[in-house]
Amino acid sequence: MTDLWYTSSGLTVQGTGHLAGVAQFFIRLSGCDHKGCTIRALCDEARSFSSHAGSRTTVKEVVDRAMNELGYGGWLHITGGEPTQNPAFYPLIRAASEAGLKVHIQTSGIAGIEAPYDWLTVSPKVPLSALRQTYGQEMVVVYQGQTDEELLEMSRATGFWYYYLSPLWLPGADEMENARATADAVVRLNRRSNDDGLQRHHNGRQWLAALQAHKFWGVK
Ligand code: SF4
Repeated sequence: MTDLWYTSSGLTVQGTGHLAGVAQFFIRLSGCDHKGCTIRALCDEARSFSSHAGSRTTVKEVVDRAMNELGYGGWLHITGGEPTQNPAFYPLIRAASEAGLKVHIQTSGIAGIEAPYDWLTVSPKVPLSALRQTYGQEMVVVYQGQTDEELLEMSRATGFWYYYLSPLWLPGADEMENARATADAVVRLNRRSNDDGLQRHHNGRQWLAALQAHKFWGVK
């Protein structure tokens, strides 16, 4: 039985991206030593940094709990910390798939994923040149005032089905202002030409505005 360290777990509702509103059994794996993370100082999961943070359980117990809650075909959402750094990451994916759960992984993309999954969300926290997982179902970028060209390059250079721009939510920040700035950026990103009238190269990708709906719903 593979030991697994985690900081929180339980059934809740996915709050952002294409699967927003879908009930999923979440497990936050412990561990993140990603010192180059662009928002490390602002990380709201700092409690997950230590590889032995939180509680210890087993892979089997996590799968059993998710199966009890949702049954065959239910979603197991694996996040962190940076989940790819947790030794139980791959055993958990394998065990969940074998049990008949669907696997949703959320990662910063600093490591390539070498296991089958049903849905992969990459929320990049490194420059594009350091991104190792460059394809999947969705990329969710936290908007921190990046230029339009920086964002368009992210979508041109990678292969995701959906590209979301998500507002930065910080304690004390003007969240509605951030949400508005994000929506404005999405409008610009989808225009055929920039303010100077030059054509933009979208590569067929469309950017979407993500809402962190779980903040409104008051769930974690
Ligand atoms: S990779 Fe994720 S968990 Fe690690 S510091 Fe960055 S935001 Fe926090």
